[in-house]
Amino acid sequence: MRHVRLLPVAPRPCKDELLTSWQCRIASRYSSTPPKILAWLGGRSVSMRDSFEARDFRPDQDMTWRWARACRLKERDLQRLALSNLERPEDCYVRNPLQRGVCAVCLDDDAEQGGDHYCRRSWAHVEAVACLKHGVGLQSACQRCFRVGLFQFQFLSDGARLVCPWCATVISERGRRQPRQSRMLESMSAIGRAIDGKGVQLDEVMAACRFLWAAQPHGSPYIAYLGISLPYGRLPPSPRASAPLSTLPLAWRAASIEAMAELAALLEPRAVGTVPPFLHEAFRKFRRGEGQQAAEEPAAAAQAESAGLKLRSDGDYRRLALQILNSQAWKTTPANSRRKKNRAIGRLMNRALSGG
Ligand SMILES: [Zn+2]
Ligand SMILES: [Zn+2]
Repeated sequence: MRHVRLLPVAPRPCKDELLTSWQCRIASRYSSTPPKILAWLGGRSVSMRDSFEARDFRPDQDMTWRWARACRLKERDLQRLALSNLERPEDCYVRNPLQRGVCAVCLDDDAEQGGDHYCRRSWAHVEAVACLKHGVGLQSACQRCFRVGLFQFQFLSDGARLVCPWCATVISERGRRQPRQSRMLESMSAIGRAIDGKGVQLDEVMAACRFLWAAQPHGSPYIAYLGISLPYGRLPPSPRASAPLSTLPLAWRAASIEAMAELAALLEPRAVGTVPPFLHEAFRKFRRGEGQQAAEEPAAAAQAESAGLKLRSDGDYRRLALQILNSQAWKTTPANSRRKKNRAIGRLMNRALSGG
């Protein structure tokens, strides 16, 4: 008879849990990792790093079969956790767990109910930057040492807990009071509905994201003109991606989604809007141009890449700067608002560089 290896202690997965979260909290009970446990169960290795597809989206069947048997579960109960069951396009998930956030209040709730911490599937949604239940921002950095790193499950006396990989502090919101992110939540819900509806609105949302992050021939992408405080730190990955949101870190996604909701006309613009009118106009142009460009784009992109930066001469830049300083538009910019001033500079630079 074939010897079947069993894991003596294995809690059931939660209804809204990511498969990898369940595996990691089990592994923490054995001071191990999911790949090591899979190897122990005789499975072929599925790498943890680049396998969103094989671990969470459309999990490898040999892997779920072995885990289910070792934990005395039905295999279909594990396959049910696959994100591909949820009818949300793959591009609408954040692939790299390092770029996702967690709601510390949800984790506190888990602990209060006597259970393990666990990672919700909804935290992998591209628009997930705040918790819809608690209204607070998701966090991806430790609030004690402020370093960013993938939170890890550690088995403590009262259950599996997510801890900071650097200082081992348990992720918790106790004793802190975060402001409610109302506008952020509105934007998130609107984008979530657009994604689930898979209609014209989804196309608009995705286009708004491409628009904000598209490389501009001269100067920064449009996201830089929003007058919102952009997060510091590591630069986001290539904005040339067809679905930038699925690869952006949490802080950059948070900076993008309000503007996306406004550009896609999912939200009424505010009196003091996030998105200045000239960006709405540029987005309309972008949408008109996108259809025509689609066929030529790959070649053009490759060309731009090989040509490197197209810089002008110093004299040219000096001339443009003087033109801006002498222009009526600059002289009438209100001097008291830094935010308005920054926007005006962005607009004037853009216009000057594109020869307008
Ligand atoms: Zn929450
Ligand atoms: Zn820390």
